[in-house]
Amino acid sequence: MTEYQIALAYLSALTIVCMVLYTFTYFLPTPDNANKAKSTYYFRILLLFVIAAQSAVLFRYEHAAILSIVLTNLFILAIAYSLMCAIYSRYDANISQRHYLLMVVHSGIFLSCLYYFHQLFGPGYWRSVFVFINICIPYGLTIHQCHLQFKKDRVSDRVLYSALLITIMLCLIYIFFYSTFFRDQAFVPITLTFIILLSFVCVLFFGFALSIIYSLVDKLRVELVTDRLTGAKNRNYLGEISQQLISMAKRTNTPLSLIICDIDRFKVINDTHGHGAGDKVLIEFAKNIKNTLRAEDIFIRVGGEEFVILLPQINVENALLTANRLRLSTEKLPIVFGDENLTITASFGIASVDLNHPIEHSVNKADEALYQAKGSGRNRAIAVNH
Ligand code: GH3
Ligand code: MG
Ligand code: MG
Repeated sequence: MTEYQIALAYLSALTIVCMVLYTFTYFLPTPDNANKAKSTYYFRILLLFVIAAQSAVLFRYEHAAILSIVLTNLFILAIAYSLMCAIYSRYDANISQRHYLLMVVHSGIFLSCLYYFHQLFGPGYWRSVFVFINICIPYGLTIHQCHLQFKKDRVSDRVLYSALLITIMLCLIYIFFYSTFFRDQAFVPITLTFIILLSFVCVLFFGFALSIIYSLVDKLRVELVTDRLTGAKNRNYLGEISQQLISMAKRTNTPLSLIICDIDRFKVINDTHGHGAGDKVLIEFAKNIKNTLRAEDIFIRVGGEEFVILLPQINVENALLTANRLRLSTEKLPIVFGDENLTITASFGIASVDLNHPIEHSVNKADEALYQAKGSGRNRAIAVNH
């Protein structure tokens, strides 16, 4: 087998892999956001540039060496830029005309410098370092973007970040091998280029695909515990979070309080102004409560117009003060529905959470207090001690 035939075999293998991955991209979940959906499109372009880079290696057998070198490196830079665009749109950052223009300008400068670099120093290690430094521009921007958006608890971010770091390691391994074993050769050995490109594409593809799938899983996980109408958490969340908060309260020896609140005569609003007005009241009521609470308080819609609030590190006396603050702000809350101005009141039952029983025990206690608040005229906050 001649070297040309081996190069051709590598190209065929890489093309098959890229085409299979390309087809897979059509089966990845498409994000709702149009900008985010573009990231898969950029990733497909990246796969095509990978094939182009490996094809350009073949030029060395039939055309001037410089043509092969310049084209291969240009495509490598294009791979880095497509990756940058894919990650930017993945995180909903817009790629503008100005960005495209800057990419073209950088590629032009890179090509001219590469040409003169080759004429000055000839082949070898320094040329690879020069290429690596240039690739660091889009790569640095990509990692910076990932870093800005990175959230430790999001598996999708961790997967993508790791995949990017692994590909940088691959580039460094490439330079190390090249500089150690082949530094005086005109061309990088085709096997090394093939192995690096193949590993690069596989690591990135699986990182990218897994990150898209995991972000969908994360989204579903949030939706599972979120009430669609009000944006508050839903009943599914109560069991999960209450266990965590009870353990934390025990560990830190701090109090944990619970408020249950219910909009007064809500049925009348529905009956008089319609279900739409009722929904608007729920949305505005929930928004007002969320804005009044601290970030660490947990706000859960447990029924139609019934909500539970968990207040870590707050004793029952202070929870009563909070409930009265919420009650007064509800009273003053302006709710506009069509031409009508609606006003509402709500009643509140407060209990300190018994850390030795499941949360339902304390919910029932607070419910009794709520029942008393309703019975004594509504628009009231009443607390019970356990
Ligand atoms: P009380 O002061 O004793 O709490 O009286 P109330 O009318 O608020 O209580 P009741 O339990 O009799 O009525 C609750 C109503 O809430 C009945 C139900 O139709 C309505 N409801 C439940 N969920 C929703 C919802 O998502 N949207 C709307 N618009 N209404 C809802
Ligand atoms: Mg009610
Ligand atoms: Mg009710």
